[in-house]
Amino acid sequence: MFSLHEKTLYVAELDLWIDSMRPRGRCYISHGHADHARAHDVVVTSTNNARVCKLRLGRRKAKPPSLLGEPERAEIAYETHDFNAPWRIGDHDLTLFSAGHVLGSAQLLIEGESGRFVYTGDFKLEPSYTAEAPEVKRCDTLLMECTYGRPQYVFPPRAEVAAAMVAWARKALEDGAVPIFFAYSLGKAQEAMAILGRGGIPLAVHGAIASMAGVYEDAGVAMPPYERYDAHAFDGTRALVWPPSGKALPAAVRGKTVRTASLTGWVVGKGTNFARGTDAGFPLSDHADFPSLLRYIELAQPRKVLLNHGWRDFTHRLRNLGIDATYLEPNQQLALF
Ligand SMILES: [Zn+2]
Repeated sequence: MFSLHEKTLYVAELDLWIDSMRPRGRCYISHGHADHARAHDVVVTSTNNARVCKLRLGRRKAKPPSLLGEPERAEIAYETHDFNAPWRIGDHDLTLFSAGHVLGSAQLLIEGESGRFVYTGDFKLEPSYTAEAPEVKRCDTLLMECTYGRPQYVFPPRAEVAAAMVAWARKALEDGAVPIFFAYSLGKAQEAMAILGRGGIPLAVHGAIASMAGVYEDAGVAMPPYERYDAHAFDGTRALVWPPSGKALPAAVRGKTVRTASLTGWVVGKGTNFARGTDAGFPLSDHADFPSLLRYIELAQPRKVLLNHGWRDFTHRLRNLGIDATYLEPNQQLALF
């Protein structure tokens, strides 16, 4: 039985939680973004996502010892699996394979006598510069995200977005302005660094972004030369890659001319000059766009599609195409195996 407890996925046969937002005994984490990764007693995940989680989750906060219960564990135990290296729990084979979303992002395949189930987590199909190449596997039941599940979300080719980012940064530097790219410190920021670095743009990056770039390098991903931002050393001749939280500008650019850019799929259709209070927006996304969501279903050929994380009306769009689709509701129970 596969069920949802207050929006959290649980596979009873395997005693395995999936991307739970509350601490659990044993939980599979698809990737390191904050809306998927929490500290659990045992984290089941890919080898590279374990590297990411070790940086992001650190140690659990030790709770005061309870008089009745078991003592709280402070350390997170990691059960790591390489991509396409199946392991067995009871009557089921489990396999992690690349979601192409950020470093280490893993989809989960569960195979039993009665069929194949795939949970995508966040994914994209277009190859990127820094994440592992994505993969699609045939399955009977597919549980997929649909963040960009509306037809207007069609992203331009990544190379085109990359060229526009590089040209914009170069122009800003030539004009004596500091170009600042706001990007999440896991995934989007390293992708921006790779793109700008390949374009010959000198880089300085926020400390959290530099630390995560170190994890990418440890995993064998080539990163371009960059400086860890230092307010005293920064002279305004480099592009900055900065976390988007609050859009607070770094201290060293006060008094300097700056140009800011958002990197998000949500700017599609709105033009590069309309982007969440920044000067420019580039549709660099870690997610599948609308055509890629449909393409995924075409490749996986599931009999049943379950949806979460996205537009509910994507369900009706799929049904209109003759696809058996259901949006998961809290506390729903589904027999999969
Ligand atoms: Zn994500």
